[in-house]
Amino acid sequence: MEDCLFCKIISGDVPSTKVYEDEYVYAFLDIAPQAPFHAVFVPKIHIKSPAFIDSENSLYVAKIYEAIATVAKNEKLEKGFRVVANCGEDGGQTVGHLHFHLLARRNLQWPPG
Ligand code: AMP
Ligand code: ZN
Repeated sequence: MEDCLFCKIISGDVPSTKVYEDEYVYAFLDIAPQAPFHAVFVPKIHIKSPAFIDSENSLYVAKIYEAIATVAKNEKLEKGFRVVANCGEDGGQTVGHLHFHLLARRNLQWPPG
């Protein structure tokens, strides 16, 4: 999609530090990390947010969770990690392309602010 930052990252028009890629998924390091390890996983099709996941595109979400497990294993995140998908204004979503944050290597508090 034109004018979508994460579509531009997927196409390579905007540079990123890749941590994982397959047919369905692209993942890269967050530019403003909120934990010592902070990667962002995106589907390789433009889905606006978690509110737009449906039976037509949910395979991409399954593939993202598989990719997260693979990266967690490769990065040796045995102590645990958090996966976060912000949705819409109240959810704190700032980029309108579905994405899942993988946060790790620090003790994360609950509930979030
Ligand atoms: P959210 O606030 O949930 O929409 O997450 C968007 C995330 O994208 C934020 O954590 C930003 O730091 C991150 N971000 C924005 N621009 C870039 C970029 N060019 N490369 C990597 N991460 C980015
Ligand atoms: Zn997009």
